[in-house]
Amino acid sequence: MVDNCLFCKIVAGVIPADKVYEDELVVAFKDIDPQAPVHLLIIPRKHIARITDITDEDNLLIAHIHQVAVMLAKDFDIAEPGFRLVNNCNEDGGQAVYHLHYHLLGGRKMAWPPG
Ligand code: AMP
Ligand code: ZN
Repeated sequence: MVDNCLFCKIVAGVIPADKVYEDELVVAFKDIDPQAPVHLLIIPRKHIARITDITDEDNLLIAHIHQVAVMLAKDFDIAEPGFRLVNNCNEDGGQAVYHLHYHLLGGRKMAWPPG
């Protein structure tokens, strides 16, 4: 656990979150400021600051995150109408929390291009 990392604290249970799934590798919870009817965050238990910090040893973890995203999309009934899986990287990407996370958004029609 990295000090002063909000999502490490959620993984550790120090800060509460509305968790919808967890296993030995990942935790998923509802975004506190939802931008769609379904807005979940999927994060690794392991602290990885950004997508650009992923290494070869994380290959199985990253594949697993995709599998969990699809499982949750089905569970929340957004797989068929469609959904968006988003990672924001660094300042221009709009990253606010520097613990790797993927936004799973659905339940409404998404706009393109994104803002
Ligand atoms: P990003 O801008 O990609 O770094 O996304 C960070 C996300 O974390 C935002 O969508 C926030 O609404 C969300 N967030 C911040 N604090 C919390 C929290 N305590 N519980 C759940 N979601 C949070
Ligand atoms: Zn962290």
